[in-house]
Amino acid sequence: MENDIARRLDKIRGRITARAQSCGRNPDEIKLVAVSKTKPAQDIRQAAAAGAKIFGENYIQEARQKIETLYDLDVKWHFIGHLQTNKARYAVRLFDLIHSVDSLKLAKSLNKEAAKLGKRQAVLVQVNISGEETKSGVAPDDTLELLREMAGLENISVRGLMTMPPFFDDPVKARPYFRQLRRLARQADRAGIAGISMAELSMGMTGDFEVAIEEGATLVRIGTAIFGSRG
Ligand SMILES: *Cc1c(COP(=O)(O)O)cnc(C)c1O
Repeated sequence: MENDIARRLDKIRGRITARAQSCGRNPDEIKLVAVSKTKPAQDIRQAAAAGAKIFGENYIQEARQKIETLYDLDVKWHFIGHLQTNKARYAVRLFDLIHSVDSLKLAKSLNKEAAKLGKRQAVLVQVNISGEETKSGVAPDDTLELLREMAGLENISVRGLMTMPPFFDDPVKARPYFRQLRRLARQADRAGIAGISMAELSMGMTGDFEVAIEEGATLVRIGTAIFGSRG
């Protein structure tokens, strides 16, 4: 098991590097978020020992326990799941980057909690490109407005956008969704909203991260290919 995680991690890093190079990007621009939801702390420890630097978690309660257990690791924690406003306090305490802000209400709660801690909380805005009702995220047409409103929140620092396309057996079908996210980021950049950065594009998972890299991903969120299936 131990060797499995190290070996899989190595393989994923190799694939990230290879794809970055084949599309003319610097592999250092692409950060790997090892998605450890539902996996035990021991697995995270093994991945960290094998060089993983960022872990992604989806559930506050679960993450609290694991982060506490793993306090000695020198790693970053990213929240990638759906965040309820009433959990904002914990999210701000626990996470270096929150990928899933999709409403002004949530952003305001995070801002308030971050202010209490004297922290500037880094966040991404999650966009629901596909418009699927089961998916979280702000509608593409409402994204610029949300960004403008968030720019006024002093304890929030917007670093970019995140999306989750529908699941396809053929990863190439996810390309238009990734491309649209990048286009939105470019629009937001041109809008020149003070204090808003569009440096990060969080997109791509086990099944489609190579396509996401071709479309400009800077953060790929990979679980299954590192930790195995989630049962
Ligand atoms: C679970 C999850 C992932 C990782 O998915 P895999 O297919 O296991 O790589 C990535 N992003 C989000 C938002 C997730 O919930």
